[in-house]
Amino acid sequence: MRVILFGPPGSGKGTQARELAEKFKVPHIATGDMFREAASRGTELGKRLAKLLGRGELVPDELVIEVVKERLSQDDTKEGFILDGFPRTIPQARALDEILGGSYVVVKLDVPDDEVIRRISGRRTCINCGGVFNVYSNPPEVEGKCDFCGSELIVREDDVEEKVRRRLEVYKQTTACLNEYYGGKVRVVDGTGSPDEVFKRLLLALK
Ligand code: AMP
Repeated sequence: MRVILFGPPGSGKGTQARELAEKFKVPHIATGDMFREAASRGTELGKRLAKLLGRGELVPDELVIEVVKERLSQDDTKEGFILDGFPRTIPQARALDEILGGSYVVVKLDVPDDEVIRRISGRRTCINCGGVFNVYSNPPEVEGKCDFCGSELIVREDDVEEKVRRRLEVYKQTTACLNEYYGGKVRVVDGTGSPDEVFKRLLLALK
C-alpha cells in the first residue's frame, strides 16, 4: 500500500490520509506536518521554515527531498505509506521515483476553489499531532480539543484567506506539473461531501 495523495489545500488530504493510514496500518507521512513541527522549534532552520510556511510558499526541493528520503528509509515504511503533500514539484517526483524504485498509486482529491476557501475558514488543527477538524462539517467531540490526543486546536497561520489564495495559486502550478509527470496514472477522486463519503470513494479508487 504505497499511496501518493495530492489535492488543493482544504481538500481533506490530511483527514483522508490519516484514515487510510489507520485502515491499512501504514504510516501517514505529511511533509506539511513535518515542516510545521520543525518550524515551531526556534532553530535557524525552524525560523526559515516558519517564514516560508507563513507566506504559503514552497520549501526548497533539496530540503524537502532530504527530509522525505530520511523518513522513507525508516523500517515502518516497509509495508507501505500514505504520502500527503509530497511530491509537489517535478524534481520531487523524480527524486521519489529514485527513492522508491517501484510501484505506487497516485490519487488526486478534487475540490473546487470556492469550497476550499469555505472549508478552510472553519478548519482547526491540533498543535500537537496535526489532527484536522472543521467547526462546520467535522467538529471535534470537545470544542477546541483534539479527538486524537486532547491537545489544543488552533487556526493555522497560513489558513487565513489571503494566504489560502496564495497556496491555491501555488497548488495550481503543482497540479499542473504532477499531472504532466504522472499523466494517466492519476486516479481522480471527488473530494466534496462528508469525510465518510470521500473515504468510500477513495477506497474504491484504490482497488
Ligand atoms: P500542507 O500541510 O501540505 O498544506 O503544507 C503546508 C506548507 O508546508 C506548504 O504551504 C509548504 O510551505 C510546505 N510544504 C509541505 N510539503 C511540501 C513539499 N512537498 N514541497 C515544498 N513545500 C512543502
